[in-house]
Amino acid sequence: MPTPRLASRVAGLKPSATVEMTERVRAARAAGRRIIGLSSGDPGLDTDPRIIEAANRALHDGDTHYGPAAGSAALRAALADRERLRTGAAYAPEDVLITPGGKFALLTALMGIVEPGDEVLVPEPGWVSYGPCIRLCGGTPVPLPMLDRIDPGQLAAAITPRTVAIVLNSPVNPTARVLPAAELDAVLALAERHDLWIVFDQVYSDLLHAGRFAAPQASSAGQARTLVVDSLSKTFGMTGWRLGSLSMPAGTARSFQRVMQHSVYCVPGFVQQAGVAALRLFDDLVPGYRALFRARQEYAASRLAALPGIHCPLPDAGFYLFPSVPGDDGAVAASWLDRLSVASLPGSAFGAAGAGHIRLSLTTTQPDLEDAMDRIAQWSRQEQVLA
Ligand code: PMP
Ligand code: GLU
Repeated sequence: MPTPRLASRVAGLKPSATVEMTERVRAARAAGRRIIGLSSGDPGLDTDPRIIEAANRALHDGDTHYGPAAGSAALRAALADRERLRTGAAYAPEDVLITPGGKFALLTALMGIVEPGDEVLVPEPGWVSYGPCIRLCGGTPVPLPMLDRIDPGQLAAAITPRTVAIVLNSPVNPTARVLPAAELDAVLALAERHDLWIVFDQVYSDLLHAGRFAAPQASSAGQARTLVVDSLSKTFGMTGWRLGSLSMPAGTARSFQRVMQHSVYCVPGFVQQAGVAALRLFDDLVPGYRALFRARQEYAASRLAALPGIHCPLPDAGFYLFPSVPGDDGAVAASWLDRLSVASLPGSAFGAAGAGHIRLSLTTTQPDLEDAMDRIAQWSRQEQVLA
């Protein structure tokens, strides 16, 4: 039977390479194939039992109703406190909106600032959902290459009369690079000159291994034009709970809140109570997670750097590595999956500026990681023989 037409908004939307690869791995495993998963951005941590207990308690205490659309007062206050510690930026709890994951915080931010036909600059290589979320709002994403650094001249040249915002992400998915303060200052100066919003995605900022985390909202001029996307997913191994936030300049929250009111309404109260418990456990849990990810990055980077044709810098944050590989990255990722049963993502899935690289997400156990590195080393030896 013919079906009525679909809106181009969804019919023409690019699928998420990260989500689709995760689903492909899940299907292959269900069919009995052993795959070493280095493709998903899920940190692979079990949520701490004390966090689960907080949600259980909340459920038994009757937190099963609609709650405030903007989020619970306790979680908004806890996140405002956390932000003060992290970047020094002072947010009133009323300036923090609780969303189902950082992904919905991003969509809410863009819904609030993008008119049809507007242009938004997006980092490249950059997370796969920036462009599609901009398109869902009727806007046009304009890629800005920034593999190793943000070039202010290139940024200035990309700004047109239709540009309304720039999306920045630090630490970066997929490279795990931490944007230095000087680069953010240069972006802020241009944003001020052209009256642009900055949408700043800091969902990996709690997983810093070295150096200092810089953020545009740290200055009051920056805070006034920055929408901060954050999440508990990566910090606490809470990806499936769907818990994130959007912090906004004073006085704007009421407008953004309407997106929650008319869509998901609110994040479940028991999930938010789990979030409050997680933030209380920050010092107890997060240093251990950081150390785990750092050890894996150091191990895998040293194994990869020893292979001919592979260059693998050690980033300052997170759990990704973004080595350059010889040849076409799409072909390399496909061959690792088919021949080695190692799932990764080609750098070009994160935009043209990511070509020639592979994103590895170090979220497996150490034995599986060692197994994957052995397989990649063997693949490399075979490629040498064939070359
Ligand atoms: N931003 C970046 C850069 C990400 O990698 C992710 C991962 N999913 C998100 C935002 C959103 O995460 P979540 O919706 O789970 O909070
Ligand atoms: N952000 C993670 C990733 O890059 C999870 C999947 C997604 O939300 O895109 O793999």
